[in-house]
Amino acid sequence: MLNSILSKAETDGVLAVSDMRYLLELTDDADLKALFAAAYAVKRQYVGTKAFFRGIIEFSNICRKDCYYCGIRKSNGDVRRFDMEPEEIIDAAVWAHGNDYGSIVLQSGERCDAAFVDRIESVLLRIRERTNGDLGITLSLGEQERETYRRWFAAGAHRYLLRIETTSPILYAKLHPEDHRLDARLTCLEDLRKVGYQVGTGVMIGLPSQTVDDLIEDILFFLANDIDMIGMGPYIVHQDTPLASEVETFDERHQLLMGLKMIAVTRLVLRDVNIAATTALQALDHQGREAGLQAGANIIMPNVTDTKYRAAYQLYDNKPCTDENSSMCKGCLNRRITLIGESIGFGEWGDSPHYHRRMNHGATAAG
Ligand code: SAH
Ligand code: SF4
Repeated sequence: MLNSILSKAETDGVLAVSDMRYLLELTDDADLKALFAAAYAVKRQYVGTKAFFRGIIEFSNICRKDCYYCGIRKSNGDVRRFDMEPEEIIDAAVWAHGNDYGSIVLQSGERCDAAFVDRIESVLLRIRERTNGDLGITLSLGEQERETYRRWFAAGAHRYLLRIETTSPILYAKLHPEDHRLDARLTCLEDLRKVGYQVGTGVMIGLPSQTVDDLIEDILFFLANDIDMIGMGPYIVHQDTPLASEVETFDERHQLLMGLKMIAVTRLVLRDVNIAATTALQALDHQGREAGLQAGANIIMPNVTDTKYRAAYQLYDNKPCTDENSSMCKGCLNRRITLIGESIGFGEWGDSPHYHRRMNHGATAAG
């Protein structure tokens, strides 16, 4: 059964819902190994075995939202709030550029006020100027007006990561206050696409009451929406959040495995997209990110935020690398990636091949 599903997936990428369910429910070590090997073969064929770096700058934990799972939600009064100065953000970007990271990600809590929108625009313009437009820039700044997305795109950002979190309306409603709306998030993804970004989305994996069928719906959503990049990772409890009380026992190994299986099945189905091995994997296991690469991911997001801010950006408990600095993270990752026999795409943007295929196809279709 397993072999026939995997060889079918490897040759034509078509998996029935029942096949995906079978793969996501695997537990036996040898079976898992076979699943990850098949996903790796597809990765090798469609995106290669170079890992691309996106240096992530987590520049502020101020957030107007109150997602029940997140440690920096606005109602968490135990968080020391910080907001990096524009110069500090630009310095981190210049460090990433100087260290040959092809791209960066700017991430923060969500804010939509005019001062914030203006500040991001100006930071983007200045980063472009300081790095001669060489640095790929991804934004992960939540839900915004289409005009804001347009301004930030014009100022130099070209990829945007906005996780849908879960495609199940019932689960989404359980994870958020009433005014946080799944349909608003869907509209944002459409707007991002229309503005011209490479569009990234993703989900949390292993949420309380989430089923395997919910996760299959998530993968089908990525496929139906022609998504270019996937950033998804295991849900990890943060003790000072409402969702923590819904979790009876937090099984790290199970969360890690579900995260890896989701990467593998997503790679088998979507093939030419970029998939990140997210930091949440590493929070569960020292070698979580390497395991992610070996299960089909091809993007790593090393933290390039100044060490003094790292501990205050805790979306979940036990966030790794909060005491390290950016050079230590670089050295550590180089060793880890070389050890699994991959190379690093230094100095390259490492765009999603899916995006380019989508654009070429659009150009051909348009005549
Ligand atoms: N505010 C922006 C970006 C920062 S949050 C936004 O929400 O889009 C980035 C991601 O962190 C979220 O999309 C969510 O999927 C993830 N996250 C938050 N809390 C988490 C937790 N407890 N475990 C795992 N991932 C979490
Ligand atoms: Fe804010 Fe993002 Fe956390 Fe939600 S997930 S509370 S929007 S930082």
